[in-house]
Amino acid sequence: MMPPAFEYYAPTGVDEVIDLLEKYGDDAKILAGGQSLIPLLKSRITAIPYLISLSGIKDLSYITESSNATRIGAMTVDSDLEYSDTIRKRYPILMDALSKLADPLVRNMGTVGGNISHGDPSNDLPAVMLALKATFVARGRGGNRNIKARDFFIDTFTTALEHDEVLTEISIPVWKEHSGGSYVKFEKGTWNFSVAGSAVQLRLENGAVVEAGIAITSMGPKAMYIPEAEDYLLGKKFHKSVISEAADIVVEKSQPSPDTYGSVEYKKNILKRITMEALENAFRRSGGM
Ligand SMILES: Cc1cc2nc3c(=O)[nH]c(=O)nc-3n(C[C@H](O)[C@H](O)[C@H](O)COP(=O)(O)OP(=O)(O)OC[C@H]3O[C@@H](n4cnc5c(N)ncnc54)[C@H](O)[C@@H]3O)c2cc1C
Repeated sequence: MMPPAFEYYAPTGVDEVIDLLEKYGDDAKILAGGQSLIPLLKSRITAIPYLISLSGIKDLSYITESSNATRIGAMTVDSDLEYSDTIRKRYPILMDALSKLADPLVRNMGTVGGNISHGDPSNDLPAVMLALKATFVARGRGGNRNIKARDFFIDTFTTALEHDEVLTEISIPVWKEHSGGSYVKFEKGTWNFSVAGSAVQLRLENGAVVEAGIAITSMGPKAMYIPEAEDYLLGKKFHKSVISEAADIVVEKSQPSPDTYGSVEYKKNILKRITMEALENAFRRSGGM
């Protein structure tokens, strides 16, 4: 199906994007890789009279590493992350997610910023960014605003971004030595989105957890951050009972809805299994077992 008619703008700077967002208000939307927005337009679930493409803004695509953080431009496509040595070396959890995110065609077009800004509870990168304790940079008329991942996801398709703000950068801290993470996803058959996804990042000292990040995908109205499971893990070493108990806390905090892929009970059973797997992988990658 063809999308409803729209006017297309391709500015070359973020300030121009902000001007256009202010001018057209709710009639305008940013277009990044188009892998979520174009299907919505084509199926006529939504109609946007003014589309403002970010594809002409060349300085929003980069991956730079420093000793304490990795900065990723919002227009960096998923496949650039997938083939980045920095990402492979520093964030195995992100490589887990990228290898299962859609297919190579979508990953060649879809951007990291779009995946996060869309606010889709089924998208994989929000939970990974929550577990890694990333910070997002939003640019608006007043300049840059830093938003912690845990404050960013408000509700289904609703984020902390204001209408006239552009997500420009994702900053992921470098996790010190003896850290590691894992993202485990249970997919919906041939459709790539998940029935459930679980992201776990750990840092250990003498085998015991000193820092943790845990979040889940497709298990509530938004990507859900589970600090209660993190608190439980602090000071604990790897043991089957610890893994099981932490996964139980994650399941208790989840809010899945029944749909054609399964009942609430089924989804919670899946979540328990994949969270235990992610925890075990994270302990192994941190050198704790
Ligand atoms: C067949 C198929 C399978 C898929 N499977 C998966 C999957 O398994 N896992 C997964 O995570 N995703 C999946 N996706 C979604 C895909 O990852 C999208 O690329 C992603 O959700 C949106 O990124 P985009 O760059 O294409 O954004 P767009 O579609 O261009 O935009 C999405 C939304 O974000 C807003 N936006 C985009 N960039 C910015 C910005 N910088 N600042 C402010 N707002 C912005 C737009 O206004 C729009 O509302 C799939 C998509 C398809 C078509």
